[in-house]
Order: sequence, then structure tokens, then C-alpha cells
Amino acid sequence: MNQTEINAENIAYIGLGSNLDAPLIQITTAIKAIDLLPDTTVLAKAPIYKSKPLGPQDQPDFYNTAIKVSTSSHPEMLLKLLQHIEITLGRVKKRHWGERCIDLDILLFNNEQVNLPHLTIPHAEIRNRDFVLKPLLDICQDLTLPNGEVLRDLLQQCPCNNLQPATSPTD
Ligand code: ADP
Ligand code: MG
Repeated sequence: MNQTEINAENIAYIGLGSNLDAPLIQITTAIKAIDLLPDTTVLAKAPIYKSKPLGPQDQPDFYNTAIKVSTSSHPEMLLKLLQHIEITLGRVKKRHWGERCIDLDILLFNNEQVNLPHLTIPHAEIRNRDFVLKPLLDICQDLTLPNGEVLRDLLQQCPCNNLQPATSPTD
């Protein structure tokens, strides 16, 4: 067992979204980049789903998925690493809830609650987004929030966004 494995003691769930510049490739590339981080290993991947945009409607459909990782990074460090990957993949912020080539969000981190000005965990919109809840439940159907809310129940109460399965180009 190497040092990374000894330190990889946190379990996090990361949401990935894209609606620009070959979204399926963006998502696949981002997952590979996360897996290549020295302190982080991808443990499970959900299917990718396609849905209508939430914000401005004059933009392409969104593709979303979630992954489960083990990481020795603390939440703020993981956020920095993900933001670095977003920038590397060419993300330019255009407008609120608008189009983006890649969006990486920390959805859950262990059973922790984080309330910092720049980082909220569980992700602030987790209850309102079926394209987040569905892939999380595909990975683990018994997931709960730190306050005990059951994700299966949250999905039933969530506004329906007409999720469609999308096929990944590679795996
Ligand atoms: P959204 O993901 O809500 O569509 P953005 O990706 O543009 O919007 O949000 C950017 C900001 O959200 C980042 O600057 C980051 O500091 C903040 N943020 C707060 N909580 C989280 C989280 N759990 N994961 C990722 N970013 C977060
Ligand atoms: Mg984001």
C-alpha cells in the first residue's frame, strides 16, 4: 500500500455538468483528470444524464453525472483542485446558471457540513436538482444528508427535469 492509499480516508461525491463543446467528452476528460490527482481516486461513476437547462433556455441541453471518490484532501483543497481542472478544461463563466463547458461541484464530503462563504457542503441546490440526486442514487441507493434526510425521498419530492440517459463516448 502506498502513501496515497494510507491517507485516502475521505469519501466525497462530485457532480459534473456540461453543455458546451462536446459535453460527453468534457465530462469523461474531467473524470480522468480527477482520477489523475495525486491524492484522489475515482471509486464509482454514475451514468450520464441529459436534461433541459435550468437557467436561460436559449442554451444547449445539459449533461450531468456524479462520481464517488476517495481523497486525502480536505474540502477546501478539493474545491481548489476541481476549480483548477475547470480552468484547465477551458471553463469561462458567461452568466449565472448559463452555459459552461464543465462544472465540478462537491456534492457530499463524508458526513460533513461545510458552511463557508465560498463552499457549502452538501451542495446548496442538492435537494432541487434531479440531475444531481439521480446519479448519486445510481452510485449508492442508501445515501443520506448529514442531517439525516434520505436522498431517495428527496428525489421523489424534487421537480422533474425530464432526465434522459445519455451514452458516454468512451466508457
Ligand atoms: P453552480 O455550480 O451553482 O452552477 P458555479 O459553479 O458558477 O455555479 O458556482 C461557483 C461558486 O460556487 C464557486 O466559486 C465556489 O466557491 C462556490 N461553491 C460553493 N459551494 C460549492 C460546492 N459544494 N462545490 C463547488 N463550488 C461551490
Ligand atoms: Mg459549480
